[in-house]
Amino acid sequence: MTSRMTPLLGYNEQFARAFTPVPLGLPAAQVIVVTCLDHRVDPAITLGLKLGDAPVLRNAGGRVTQPIIEEIAYLAFLGQRISGGQLPDGSRFEVVVIHHTQCGTSFLADPGFRREAAEATGVDEAVLAASAVADPQVTARADVERLLTSPLLPPKMGVSGHVYDIETGRVTTIVDTRYP
Ligand SMILES: [Zn+2]
Repeated sequence: MTSRMTPLLGYNEQFARAFTPVPLGLPAAQVIVVTCLDHRVDPAITLGLKLGDAPVLRNAGGRVTQPIIEEIAYLAFLGQRISGGQLPDGSRFEVVVIHHTQCGTSFLADPGFRREAAEATGVDEAVLAASAVADPQVTARADVERLLTSPLLPPKMGVSGHVYDIETGRVTTIVDTRYP
């Protein structure tokens, strides 16, 4: 039986042969990446993240929604437990919000398109509106603010905002690291 998965499993066979397991521990890069699920913006490739480096939270647009904030709160709790609450003083973690140009969610900024999408998919129009990234500079900034003002953001957690340019492959920082 072949499926779309067959060539990917072929790749995985090679991968597993040279594999070294990563033990459960704190992510080495000390960042949590929030970005779009777009297949052109995989941060493992654009930022060189390797296994064990960083948790990556992805949704349409890379928007800081309530579920994303809850994941971050849980990850911080888990990190505390894994480290036995012994995180050294200097080891601050940072949430890195990366939005990108040419985002497929930009169409959702148009009310007519949004209404059609809601009717065709059954997804709530407000949920679709919350995904929209029409201008990544504006939404990256807004989402950094949303995280910083959330009561669920773990203490000492930094937040920064960036834009990935689909045309150049370059990431530009829009908001330098801030703390609540
Ligand atoms: Zn996108």
